[in-house]
Amino acid sequence: MASRIEAIVCDFGGVLTTPLFNAFAHVQEEQGIPLESLGKAMWAATQARGENPLFPLERGELSEDEFLAIVGEALLGEVGRPVEMAGFADRYWAQLSPNDEMISYLRSLRDDRGLRLALLTNNVVEWEPRWRPVWDIDSMFELVVDSGFVGMRKPEPEIYELTLSRLGLPAKACVFVDDLELNCVAAREAGMAAVQFVDAAQAITEIEAALSEGR
Ligand SMILES: [Mg+2]
Repeated sequence: MASRIEAIVCDFGGVLTTPLFNAFAHVQEEQGIPLESLGKAMWAATQARGENPLFPLERGELSEDEFLAIVGEALLGEVGRPVEMAGFADRYWAQLSPNDEMISYLRSLRDDRGLRLALLTNNVVEWEPRWRPVWDIDSMFELVVDSGFVGMRKPEPEIYELTLSRLGLPAKACVFVDDLELNCVAAREAGMAAVQFVDAAQAITEIEAALSEGR
């Protein structure tokens, strides 16, 4: 009997890329900013704004420049010297490369087994040219839901509902894949099966199990 799972709804950063944390840590190291100082600066900015500035950045409510200015100012308060933020995205993206094993697996799910593929990403509007053409996303995914363009972000329930409605599928027909636990929890609350990505071998095993359970 065919699986009742019809689509995979997949995250981008940390699943289709090499790990984000390593890239981020490398950039901070290059700039001589200890991760602890960055953590404190982000905490201070969060306290001052009532929300982590990453969240409105990802909802497209702050531009990349506005966000970097906020972080730069918070870092100035923390490390006591101006920190060059302008080239952050260049340095960060230079550290990220495709996770070829996951990409080939997802392509085989689509090409050999007829599954539909959607991408659901918390991202930054200005960064779209850095990943969408580079990863050849549109040859792979029939649907891309990017937080920056839809004004909502994971784990807000509305972005899962939007993705399902654009796919025209019920939640139970989808397996969601993301490296962040809270995004997986929200996907399960929305009614999807969810696999928290740790590495490609583990994720593929768990996706296969979810596809079998869906039979
Ligand atoms: Mg991710």
